Amino acid sequence: MSAAIVARVIREEIAALSAYHVQDAAGCIKLDAMENPFALPAALRQGLADHLAAAAINRYPDPAAADLKAALRRAMNIPTHLDILLGNGSDEIIQMLAIACAKPGAKPGAKLLSVEPAFVMFKMIATFCAMDYVGVPLKAADFSLDEAAMLTAIEEHQPALTFLAYPNNPTGNLFDAAAVRNSIRASPGLVVIDEAYFAFSSESFLGEIDQYPNAVLMRTVSKLGLAGARLGMLIGASNWLSQIDKVRLPYNINSFTQSAATFLLDHAEEFTRQTTVLVAERALLAERLAALFARHPQAAQFPSEANFILIRVPNAAHVFAELKARKILVKNTSQSHALLHDTLRITIGSSDENNAFLAALTDILEPRHA
Ligand code: PMP
Repeated sequence: MSAAIVARVIREEIAALSAYHVQDAAGCIKLDAMENPFALPAALRQGLADHLAAAAINRYPDPAAADLKAALRRAMNIPTHLDILLGNGSDEIIQMLAIACAKPGAKPGAKLLSVEPAFVMFKMIATFCAMDYVGVPLKAADFSLDEAAMLTAIEEHQPALTFLAYPNNPTGNLFDAAAVRNSIRASPGLVVIDEAYFAFSSESFLGEIDQYPNAVLMRTVSKLGLAGARLGMLIGASNWLSQIDKVRLPYNINSFTQSAATFLLDHAEEFTRQTTVLVAERALLAERLAALFARHPQAAQFPSEANFILIRVPNAAHVFAELKARKILVKNTSQSHALLHDTLRITIGSSDENNAFLAALTDILEPRHA
């Protein structure tokens, strides 16, 4: 009975969607979600507890999150002439941007453009907010940005909003910076450079974002080690950010997140230390995968500037299932895009976790005969 009411009330595009799926990780080594594997050192835990205990939880949070923004500026060297807007994760910022740029009822509607494969929420949020989505395929061989295809799509679709993740998820690579710059210059709308993985990357657009009248930078503290805090940020000129800020829900950054992140970002050296370890672990894993794949010519890995590595293995669904049977959870990206056939995305874990993954993968690719 209620099904008919639901079908009548819920928008068709929403009914057609599948919800963002989070895998059950109970009992597994968790290499599926680009989390930092390290726990907080004991001294920081205690400091965090003291800070949270002092939070005025009876009051609404500081709507401007002034202390937290100051801590972010210090931790990330964000220059004072750029504004900061905070979101409950960068997911929420993508949504705020889409809400502000969508033109419901307009024909044609406002368009959101990204590349494919990319972070799935770009397309999902376009649908949530009734923006028309345009996906420009990356080059099949190496997932590089197809500059000619980008320029053609920008010209044809005149996107209001474009997202380019730098490095890209799930491929891990940095796009050619000149191709990104040309895409920004050719765009009639706003271009968001999504640096979710900035902490692991050798390159950033932070130093030049102010050179473009139509570009802003998005970051998150999730991959840095604060995924549970849910905190993302948009960095850019105030004429853009003051408009986006109007669709931000009041008090979107709760008092605990403000308090915890302010305290922890003032100890950013610990996260820098952890990310340095992870970058070294990434190099080690890449080296060992190369040695393993030398014996398996159909297998491949793609160079990464993020805290994960995308690999291609024959029968990835089988390899994924066998890894899971060995209590190692990775992300099976094979079905998410045609260019990603037979791929798995492996988050960089601790040394022990990476060793366990590598031993399991070797065992699966090279079963020992009893
Ligand atoms: N952008 C990219 C490219 C991502 O990969 C992710 C998370 N997977 C996000 C944004 C969202 O991050 P969060 O909401 O945790 O800040």
